[in-house]
Amino acid sequence: MSAMIYKCPHCGSVLEYDAEKYMMTCDHCNSTFTPEEAAQEAKGDETIHQAGNEQDEQFAEEVTAYQCPSCGAQIMTEPNTAATFCTFCGSPTIIPSKLSGAYRPAQVIPFKISKEQAQEAFAKWCKNGRFTPKDFALPQELEKITGLYVPFWLFDCTVDGGMTANGTRVRTWPMGSYIYTNTKYYNIRRRAVMQYDRVPADGSGNMDDRTMDLLEPYNYNELVQFQMPYLAGFQAEKYDKTPKDVYPRVRERIDQYTLQKMRETIHGYSSVTNTQFQNTYRGNNAVYTLLPVWIHRYRYEGQVYQFAKNGQTGKIVGKPTVDKSKVAAWFAGIGSGILAVLFAGGMLML
Ligand SMILES: [Zn+2]
Ligand SMILES: [Zn+2]
Repeated sequence: MSAMIYKCPHCGSVLEYDAEKYMMTCDHCNSTFTPEEAAQEAKGDETIHQAGNEQDEQFAEEVTAYQCPSCGAQIMTEPNTAATFCTFCGSPTIIPSKLSGAYRPAQVIPFKISKEQAQEAFAKWCKNGRFTPKDFALPQELEKITGLYVPFWLFDCTVDGGMTANGTRVRTWPMGSYIYTNTKYYNIRRRAVMQYDRVPADGSGNMDDRTMDLLEPYNYNELVQFQMPYLAGFQAEKYDKTPKDVYPRVRERIDQYTLQKMRETIHGYSSVTNTQFQNTYRGNNAVYTLLPVWIHRYRYEGQVYQFAKNGQTGKIVGKPTVDKSKVAAWFAGIGSGILAVLFAGGMLML
């Protein structure tokens, strides 16, 4: 049962993934490598680790203590931890057994926002006057901002949506001393076949679903095939919610969006009532994906606050610690914020 680190083939120092260069870098001799090269270089190591892991998968699931390959100290982790740092020497450490078999991600969006950029954003966010305690932007506080790869399921499916409703058109006109009313009744029917690609739902019980939703959208054009070296220098978690667990959330989003699209095509009625709605799903498919988030949780006056930043686009979500009088103003601000829904390739057929 082991942990692994990626070492520089030139000098033997520890390699980390650099979000600004999109490369694995060695701070010691300034060499850079692509994640593929780093993975290739470490192949021998990985095989040894895999071989050692085979005896008992259940056991592998439950183990939370590892020996640091760099300094030999014991690293304690949470059960879902897939990448972390050695508490003693700071080496970025990866736990291959939490990234293999059913837990091997198919794809990843690598971090594009570096730790320095995330720290700057946090400091600026503090300074915006949104929260006052002076010690929040201190260097030791900024150091706690964590780059985390969050496990997500990206769903693809085709939805055959059907909708019926009763509509009326009412016309009135005066004639002599009477007012005439003419009401026509309609059966309204709509059908929409829509292809949904990459509808996201996070597969982590630790992460707040709403925060994750608000961090969207991610730009999925930048998805790459998963390679372990991308995780070097970040925290990563494996999923603890299966596609089946998160499917109801995904389905609710898709149902709402499909209904909305059909409703948008209904015009010119005086009233629309008794709306019935039925969706049939085809070809559900969920792809295990890691998405980057900068996160900082902190406690202030007994309450836990969270700063979260999309590690690709830089979008910020969070409830800051606030001077009480500023609370109301801030909430008014996010009230108009977006519950972003990102669907590519929606197709409407009537
Ligand atoms: Zn080196
Ligand atoms: Zn160590």
